Amino acid sequence: MKKWPVPLCAPEIPPAAWRLVKECLDGGWISSVGHFVGRFEKLLAKKTAARHAVATVNGTAALHLALLAAGVGPGDEVLVSTLSFIAPANAVRYVGAHPVFVDAEPNHWQMDVARVADFLADRCRWKGGAWINRRTGRRVRALLPVHVLGHPCDMAPLLALARQYDLAVVEDATESLGALYRGKPVGAMGDVGCLSFNGNKIISTGGGGMVLTNRTRWAREARSLSTQAKLPGLEYIHSRVGYNYRLTNIQAALGCSQAVKLNDHVAAKRRIAERYRHGFAGLHGLRPPAEAPWAFSTFWLYTITIDGSARNSRRLIRGLLDRGVEARPLWQPLHLSPAHRGCQVLGGQIAERLWAQGVSLPSSVGLSPEQQARVIRCVKSLHT
Ligand SMILES: *Cc1c(COP(=O)(O)O)cnc(C)c1O
Repeated sequence: MKKWPVPLCAPEIPPAAWRLVKECLDGGWISSVGHFVGRFEKLLAKKTAARHAVATVNGTAALHLALLAAGVGPGDEVLVSTLSFIAPANAVRYVGAHPVFVDAEPNHWQMDVARVADFLADRCRWKGGAWINRRTGRRVRALLPVHVLGHPCDMAPLLALARQYDLAVVEDATESLGALYRGKPVGAMGDVGCLSFNGNKIISTGGGGMVLTNRTRWAREARSLSTQAKLPGLEYIHSRVGYNYRLTNIQAALGCSQAVKLNDHVAAKRRIAERYRHGFAGLHGLRPPAEAPWAFSTFWLYTITIDGSARNSRRLIRGLLDRGVEARPLWQPLHLSPAHRGCQVLGGQIAERLWAQGVSLPSSVGLSPEQQARVIRCVKSLHT
């Protein structure tokens, strides 16, 4: 494994983590039974203003359970951001449903609400008590906006559309824990939301995730499905086919040690974003990310765009890697992914441009000013 002088997004492990993890090891509470799991759920429910939180083995599992709890099933369609890591589209497929990909809007790169509105108004019809996609004949069941790169989607109009068309809203807040939309935390604004605690997320438990919801029945459903749908009591009786998706106590202990630091982590990332903005000011053809008027972004992964074709951004990325600075491109838009070939897409050109031009820069909570100065120096010298 290469150790980067300036890594992209390294976890920030507070000193308290050692004590909490040791407590698990000393007491033998290393699996999913143990008090840190419940404590971690309570801490995150509080941070996101969710009534319920259910910890899972990873964010993808959380998305899977969220869709199951929402009742999304075989033959249904779900509108998903096309500019995203692949997990939400995969989760849609796990439940037998089909993604319809939605382009990003050009200013803040989140799900384009206007495209969602046009699709529902012009390309769906009401039949048999449901909204049917005219092209595919399938029922549109849910919206799955992904708050990408730490920035919230424009939730108010999305929630209004969901009400109007009777759709569930499944929020993928895995990249944006700590972000606010008009002053409210993302993650539990819709019907159900998901968090991730993988290695590069703002809180990391190695691997981990969480389902958030204000709906008591959905939380119970997610919790039951995460523990093999075992009925309470002495006997091993399972009400149906469930999953082994529970987070372990050791991971939850790591999570607890960081959850109390979330505000500090967000503040650190925002300071990093501010320094980058200053550092790159006036550079021709290099654009910083924008924060919407209604947004409080965590700038989870600070991503710039480089004008022109992909050749320019990839040359910059390779140059940075050669100099020990870990940088990477944005995700291939999901409507182009071989994994989701043939799915419908609403627009897509904005996401394709962002894929060509986007460069994510080191954004670790612990990034030192010296390390960051090095990144800025390298970018400036490579960007001609
Ligand atoms: C990180 C991430 C997830 C979840 O990933 P896991 O590795 O399964 O925890 C889901 N969606 C998006 C958009 C992500 O960035």
